[in-house]
Amino acid sequence: MRIAHRYLTFERNVNLLEILQTNQIKINVTEKTYNEDLKSYILEFFLYEDEPNFAFKQNLDQHFNLLHQVTTEFSPEDFDKAEWFWFTVAPLGYPQPEGKFFETTYAIDNICFKCEIGKRQKNPFRLKAEPKPGKNQFLGLHWVYDEMFVRDVAANILRHANVTGMRFSHPVVSKSHTPIESIQQLHVDTVLRTGLIPDGLTVEICNKPHNEEEKNNAESRGEVDSPKNYCGQLKYNFPQRGTLTFDKNIFEGQPDFVKPYEWFGSGGSASRPILVSKKVRNIILKEKFRGAFFAPVFLK
Ligand SMILES: [Zn+2]
Repeated sequence: MRIAHRYLTFERNVNLLEILQTNQIKINVTEKTYNEDLKSYILEFFLYEDEPNFAFKQNLDQHFNLLHQVTTEFSPEDFDKAEWFWFTVAPLGYPQPEGKFFETTYAIDNICFKCEIGKRQKNPFRLKAEPKPGKNQFLGLHWVYDEMFVRDVAANILRHANVTGMRFSHPVVSKSHTPIESIQQLHVDTVLRTGLIPDGLTVEICNKPHNEEEKNNAESRGEVDSPKNYCGQLKYNFPQRGTLTFDKNIFEGQPDFVKPYEWFGSGGSASRPILVSKKVRNIILKEKFRGAFFAPVFLK
């Protein structure tokens, strides 16, 4: 596993290019000409925390106006060694009705509306229309990071391989409530016992507005933002550096699809990410199903 710092700029800068070249930092440049007046330029390069002189190189770049992102790159060995994976899918569309999907989809008891901790699905997800997932067998929805939808081919192969911990249901068309036949929601009902090892993860506690905008909106609606409106519970931010680490014992005897006990997310969004066994990933890789993404989960 390597921690990568990705830098990006859309402006040509001779000084920067010279510094990068002198220090033998590999660059990717993409230039496109659309017409006389419309040209685009993208320069991208990566610095890795484990490379020699990382701090020195990072220092060189600080005088330039660069977009900066921290990401994690896993090695083939990280994937080979892992027994469990954090499974995500490509989002396609938004849950409906857009302004009220949360109240429409989830039970409203035992939930904090400020941070979403405690959410529990009560009704089928509603979509605008029959989705067009192209070649993807797996797909998701924007705003919903802990549910996935699957087409029949993949669902049947997982079932026939005796993959455990899955339950299926059909989403519906928002206006007509007609079931959508071409995809099924793959529900993961098993929640593990607590066992997250939160090394390096940042946490937030639900005790105040998440940002000024939310505060102003509440005030303009005449709401008194009392501390009583906040649940005081804790959630972990999804890691940008590294991955999720759990106590290995909590996975013993568990089905192939599970969710952790702990809640993740930031601001007004909380979810329990979907974790899958190596068996699930192997099937999906073998079948070359698209729309599925895996990050190794570390166990201690
Ligand atoms: Zn809360």
